[in-house]
Amino acid sequence: MVQWVYCFGGTRNEGRAEMRNLLGGKGANLAEMASIGLPVPAGFTITTEVCTAYYKNACAYPDDLKAQVENALRHIEQAIGMGFGDKKNPLLVSVRSGARVSMPGMMDTVLNLGLNDETVEGLASSSGDPRFAWDSYRRFIQMYGSVVMGVPHHRFEDILEEAKHALRVQDDTEITAEQLRVLVKDYRALVLSETGKEFPTDPHVQLWGAIGAVFGSWMNPRANTYRKLHDIPAEWGTAVSVQAMVFGNMGDDCATGVCFTRDPSTGENVFYGEYLVNAQGEDVVAGIRTPQPMAIARAEDEQKPMETVLPEAYAELSRIRSLLEGHHRDMQDIEFTVQKNVLYILQTRSGKRTAAAALKVAIDMAHEGLITQEEAILRVPPSSLNQLLHPALDPKAERTQLARGLPASPGAAAGAIVFTAEDVEAHAARDEDVILVRIETSPEDVHGMHAAKGVLTTRGGMTSHAAVVARGMGRVCVAGAGGIQVDYKAKTVTAGGHVLKEGDWITLDGGTGSVYLGRVATIPPVLSGDFATLMGWADDARRLRVRANAETIADAETALSFGAEGIGLARTEHMFFAPERIGHVRQMIMTENPALRARAIEALQQFQRDDFIGLFRTMAGLPVTIRLLDPPLHEFLPHGENELADVAAALGENIEVLRARRDALSESNPMLGHRGCRLGITAPEIYAMQVRAIAQAAIRAAEIVGKPIVPEIMIPLVATEEELKRTRAAAEETIKAVIAEEGVELKYDIGTMIELPRAALTAEHIAHEADFFSFGTNDLTQTTLGLSRDDAASFLPFYVEKGILPRDPFVSIDQEGVGALVRMGVMKGRTTRPGMKMGICGEHGGDPDSIAFFESVGLDYVSCSPFRVPVARLAAAQAALQKREKTIA
Ligand code: PEP
Ligand code: MG
Repeated sequence: MVQWVYCFGGTRNEGRAEMRNLLGGKGANLAEMASIGLPVPAGFTITTEVCTAYYKNACAYPDDLKAQVENALRHIEQAIGMGFGDKKNPLLVSVRSGARVSMPGMMDTVLNLGLNDETVEGLASSSGDPRFAWDSYRRFIQMYGSVVMGVPHHRFEDILEEAKHALRVQDDTEITAEQLRVLVKDYRALVLSETGKEFPTDPHVQLWGAIGAVFGSWMNPRANTYRKLHDIPAEWGTAVSVQAMVFGNMGDDCATGVCFTRDPSTGENVFYGEYLVNAQGEDVVAGIRTPQPMAIARAEDEQKPMETVLPEAYAELSRIRSLLEGHHRDMQDIEFTVQKNVLYILQTRSGKRTAAAALKVAIDMAHEGLITQEEAILRVPPSSLNQLLHPALDPKAERTQLARGLPASPGAAAGAIVFTAEDVEAHAARDEDVILVRIETSPEDVHGMHAAKGVLTTRGGMTSHAAVVARGMGRVCVAGAGGIQVDYKAKTVTAGGHVLKEGDWITLDGGTGSVYLGRVATIPPVLSGDFATLMGWADDARRLRVRANAETIADAETALSFGAEGIGLARTEHMFFAPERIGHVRQMIMTENPALRARAIEALQQFQRDDFIGLFRTMAGLPVTIRLLDPPLHEFLPHGENELADVAAALGENIEVLRARRDALSESNPMLGHRGCRLGITAPEIYAMQVRAIAQAAIRAAEIVGKPIVPEIMIPLVATEEELKRTRAAAEETIKAVIAEEGVELKYDIGTMIELPRAALTAEHIAHEADFFSFGTNDLTQTTLGLSRDDAASFLPFYVEKGILPRDPFVSIDQEGVGALVRMGVMKGRTTRPGMKMGICGEHGGDPDSIAFFESVGLDYVSCSPFRVPVARLAAAQAALQKREKTIA
């Protein structure tokens, strides 16, 4: 005989936690709690196999189901000491769905089942509260009438509202037992007129009606859509759990509440929670009455803790608290009810917690020996560390949302609106907090971004200039907020019907992408010793090295303080924009006179050499990858007439000639234009200047730090072996010249970025010329998907919302497409050069899911912005541990 029904609670407990597929999450959890001796109201679960059979057999149940259900009902009656349909001491049950994975709110539930005109009187006298009994009956008809019999829910609500109006009462609770009797009659009349059928009075008929409705709800349109969205096969089916009702609202020796085995906001090992005397579950959340604390230690003067009000139930609950935590080896969120001083546990699950609590609970539990160090590492979501590393909005602060953009760089910041980098600097010099608001940013804005508290742009995606640079600096950034219009001329920001002027305050939440009106209070980050402990454990567990993308000494120092093991990408173009340098850059680009160009290059070389000495010294022998100039020249061109005139004066050249040259240098699609190694090949003196500066700096810094320094020189935007061959040969010639001049040895590596599909596809050839590869997944995503980094924000959120793309591919690597190219690049590169050093320096280097992917393809390191280094260290450790688990399994 097939067992279709499994009992739990009382003396018969037939299920276990592992039987989730058969009993659904709820059924398995209830059985598990009962099996470890917890006071779970008795019940039974009809298996998911019945659901499958029911749909296979044109909505007919297996033959022996009825007998098994009747038998299980007896079990509940015996366990509870009540009779189903008994006029004096009626057993009421709940009937609930429960699939193997939770599908919140998708399927149907019926409560208080078993009530009719006779049993309601029994409930009234056994509870001593006729109002409670009649209210339960009214609610039951409403629920059953709509869920099982299909009467629109609002029709019942209409009757209730009319009654309240006629009785001149505001609240349901003011309706008396006698008045509820009348309502029940009206409800039943409604059911008859709507369905042509009497409301069933036989509890057994009611039960089968409810079971049928729950199975039926597995195929309702809501559930079907949910399943499709979450990849849940229809064949899994739902289970149905039938359980004795217990009531926390039958008098002052009754209560209901929710508690956590530890404090979910701090993680402290204290009993935390809320309860209400003489109340139902929903009263605790509805906020009509103020819930009271659990423990005396947590209570304030006027409060009535459960520990004093219901001491026996509290003592029992405290015992269960440690039992459940020990059993599940995690912080639990427990729902309970006390009925006439008897405690019942209705649910336990792993408790939701703040980032700080997740960290503390994991470390404490490992110290307590409840979990292993490895498990502790796996318990803290890496991205939650962002909450610990950056200021956050004060959860208690009032706020009005103005607009929403992309959460480009985490943290919260408030400041006055300004529109130019120069204005930011002027305000910052007076210690005023400002937010730089731009349509989009460019390298020229970097100094302003640095001085601002936060950056808001209305265009651009997660790897747009603003996003990448702000993340690198640890500045708050909301990018691509398309609902905002910026008028630079009028100096206004318009959004959601508000027009803000320069100087008006706004607040950014870079973790959610929200922009708020005015100043919203923020709270500073606090790093506990637990953070360092977790990082130490993570470092022991990970294989992937973690480097940082940084080009200033300050950023390199931040990166080191967060545990970076080197620099994986120093973008040299970021060094060109300081006011004392940009003039030389412009002169270098704009003149066609070789002597003038050489003069500008010589000036820049001094700057660059000092920049690189600074980086090498700060990193003191750790690897440093310096990328030669990458962006198109037009980014450095003089903009207005004044800038053009400055360049003309410095060069002593005709302004008209320069204007023509500027126009000639502009491109219609610069991202795919004259940039990267293409520029290095056509204007070789720029790369030669940079390589010379790197070689000289490495020699000088090695003397200072007393350790050999092996610079890693990286060539950007390589598509063919020939490009790299030529660029490499030129670089080596320069380095040899420096070695000869200085009379010392210098080891170096020359590698390339793999950021164009062709480079990945031909990596076995490119590897002949490269000592290392660094995957530039920003450009690789852009070019593989044919998706502009700077323009995607206008439609990508829509794509993600509609499920056309699972996530923004600039945030989390598109494993199927871009990832395939990375995998291929690694494999092909190492075919030519076994063991070749490989890393990734695109923004994906700080994304936990992408890091797991990079672990799986065997990269050596990830490189990310300094503030994401801890996130990457933890994610790398989790990826290594999960890989180990899979290998063992
Ligand atoms: C990349 O393309 O992934 C990269 C790191 O380079 P950038 O973002 O500077 O283009
Ligand atoms: Mg790139």
